[in-house]
Amino acid sequence: NAVVHWFKSDLRLKDNRALTLAYETAKKHDIPLVCLYIQSPQDWTAHLTSPARVDFTLRNLEVLKQKLAQLDIPLYMETQEKRRNVPTRIVELCEQWGASNLFANIEYEVDELRREAKLVKLCSDKGIAFEAVHDSCVVVPGALESQQGKQYAVYTPWYRSWITYLHEHSRNLLIVDEPGKNTGNARSHFKDLFDSPVPDAPQNKRLGNKEKQRFKEMYPEGEDEAIKRLDKFMETKVKDYDKMRSMVSGQTTSILSPYFAAGILSARVSISKAKDANGGYLDGKNAGLATWISEVAWRDFYKHVLVHWPFICMNKCFKPEFTNVEWEYDEELFNRWTEGKTGFPIVDAAMRHLKHEAWMHNRNRMIVSSFLSKDLMIDWRRGERYFMENLIDGDFASNHGGWGFGSSTGVDPQPYFRIFNPLLQSEKFDPNGDFIRKWVPELQEIKDKKSIHDPYGRGAGAAAQKAGYPRPIVNHSESRDRALQRYKEGIASGK
Ligand code: FAD
Repeated sequence: NAVVHWFKSDLRLKDNRALTLAYETAKKHDIPLVCLYIQSPQDWTAHLTSPARVDFTLRNLEVLKQKLAQLDIPLYMETQEKRRNVPTRIVELCEQWGASNLFANIEYEVDELRREAKLVKLCSDKGIAFEAVHDSCVVVPGALESQQGKQYAVYTPWYRSWITYLHEHSRNLLIVDEPGKNTGNARSHFKDLFDSPVPDAPQNKRLGNKEKQRFKEMYPEGEDEAIKRLDKFMETKVKDYDKMRSMVSGQTTSILSPYFAAGILSARVSISKAKDANGGYLDGKNAGLATWISEVAWRDFYKHVLVHWPFICMNKCFKPEFTNVEWEYDEELFNRWTEGKTGFPIVDAAMRHLKHEAWMHNRNRMIVSSFLSKDLMIDWRRGERYFMENLIDGDFASNHGGWGFGSSTGVDPQPYFRIFNPLLQSEKFDPNGDFIRKWVPELQEIKDKKSIHDPYGRGAGAAAQKAGYPRPIVNHSESRDRALQRYKEGIASGK
């Protein structure tokens, strides 16, 4: 007899709702808890998961395995090439282990919900009780609705309702206990499972040794590390977060997104800590803390949107009126964007940063997504894919939401006629040009604060040219006019 917890993107012990339920069930019946993780390379490929994210997941599994073993809980891991085999394999393992109960946290993407629906059926056929638990959002999707009984499609009223809901239902912020020592003599019953090795990354998702080391140093694995980072952020940067969070040079934000995305860190734990630090307030009082809480809330918002409008998983615009916008598919321009060779220093610095660190500052994500979809008029879905393929924090709902914002086709986007001027953004959010100098070595010698943002337009063209820095690939003002025209025509043709 046993109880099984199936790990997915919830690789932590602290405040893991399904894991805690699994543990309590096992304890109640004095039977062992067995944990399971199945890697599906086909899933990684279908979801465009970046090699950095795969590596991060596998590194975290090693930590998880060790932490669980200290509690006499085995973590069995294996690879199933084809994702459609995963539910059948889980049931097979449950039967092999004599498991009566299976627990897992819910993932809200369409493929994952379909997989879980299949598992419900398979489990019920075999008499296994399967419980799928809400865990990843602070407020469960579906809990908030407008006065008209509808799901919010605009962040600000949604956020007000999120705050009110948390005041009225403070249980949502309760942190559940970590599992204790395993029961039911797991060490002798499931001896072999304790030796289960972490699977290797599939060939197409493998990092080179140098990159592996670099990412390990930048994003060390383990939930203790995540909590350490959170605590440090709370002690230092969060107080100025409201003022500094859009500045792209230096660390102005928490850089916790890789940990949230892989479920190494619970959003509830983060919000609770921020609330405590803010004297028990979720909003108001300290502006830094309140603003940070409201940013973490965006993560919930986009997941709620995904649950309510699952069609966004099908390569569709959230706003149907933008379906007919005419996009460009120019490979050369797209490659210039990915390579950071557009001749727009802030765009190039951000894209090179992404390549090196598999992460990008939120302001830069907004700048480069607007640049690709409006200045280059390239289909925003290409950018969305490229981000997923490269980000260590790639998360479908937030990424789709962010691209929808930048290209104005998404939920609560910036209006299509608000087109970021990369030069003004650069001057405002990297005023000294330090971020540009760091990532675009060709411009390192340009010390002047003004010309660094637009070397060819502001008298530093000779130096830029000598260093091999490209000229701008488009004229922003002409591109802006074209974008306005295309969006207007797209809307008109859909009417
Ligand atoms: P902080 O500023 O410290 O915020 C704390 C946490 O709040 C973040 O870790 C994140 O979980 C959440 N958060 C903050 N801002 C947002 C936001 N705008 N939307 C959703 N959640 C937010 N975030 C991802 O986690 N994965 C993605 O794949 C992703 N793709 C994006 C694509 C685009 C085009 C844009 C504009 C934004 C995207 N974001 C994505 C949101 C945001 O840029 C990152 O969450 C943030 O930059 C992570 O840095 P941080 O951890 O230092 O954030």
